[in-house]
Amino acid sequence: ASMSHEIRTPLNGIIGMAELGLLDKDLDPIQAERFLDIKTSGQNLLEIINDILDISKIEAGKMELEEIEFSLRDVIEKVIKITRVRVKDNDVEFVVDMDPDIPDIIIGDPLRLRQVLTNLLSNAAKFTEKGHIKLRVENLEFIEEQLRLRFSVEDTGKGIPKEKQKSLFEQYVQVDSSVARKQGGTGLGLNISLKLVKMMGGNISLESEEGKGSKFFFSLNLITG
Ligand code: ADP
Repeated sequence: ASMSHEIRTPLNGIIGMAELGLLDKDLDPIQAERFLDIKTSGQNLLEIINDILDISKIEAGKMELEEIEFSLRDVIEKVIKITRVRVKDNDVEFVVDMDPDIPDIIIGDPLRLRQVLTNLLSNAAKFTEKGHIKLRVENLEFIEEQLRLRFSVEDTGKGIPKEKQKSLFEQYVQVDSSVARKQGGTGLGLNISLKLVKMMGGNISLESEEGKGSKFFFSLNLITG
């Protein structure tokens, strides 16, 4: 975990330089393709490294969650922005449905909540070619400043075979490793998400039917700010 900065800094340098290179108007198509390759390979590598660093931090007992006031709507907006970019190539409708009576200011760790939701939504985008992806935030209970929220990510994608559903939350497990070769992915995302949600006092459940789609959900007890 202490290597984090040393590894990320040069890699961000490579990605940043490739992005600058891509802005050059005089590039011929082959040069542009090469810069794009450097950029996407760099981003894939950064994603893998981030996942491995997160796992080692959690396993070393060094992952500490923040307890700060944050705006839930800001978190959801950022998640929506990231997800929109990922679903844009597909024939997929992206729907967000948040109960209006949820108070905006909540105490917790906004970055880690965002990480879990982004992971579930990126998976949904990766495995859904048509239909919809739906992010839902429900207000299950709200008494004084105690709040119970249920987050769910539903897709109409390829679904997950019954016999694989439990093991997917283990490290490095994927239904089909050829997808990972094409689209990136380490098989660590769900394991990290489950660990983070458990640290927040929840648990991730999954309902899925092959060929029809999947739904991942978790509930959290939170305090309003
Ligand atoms: P990664 O996406 O990096 O492979 P994850 O741990 O996030 O790792 O997911 C593990 C595997 O679970 C995926 O490779 C895929 O086989 C399966 N999976 C996860 N989410 C979905 C989904 N929404 N629809 C279908 N399969 C999924």
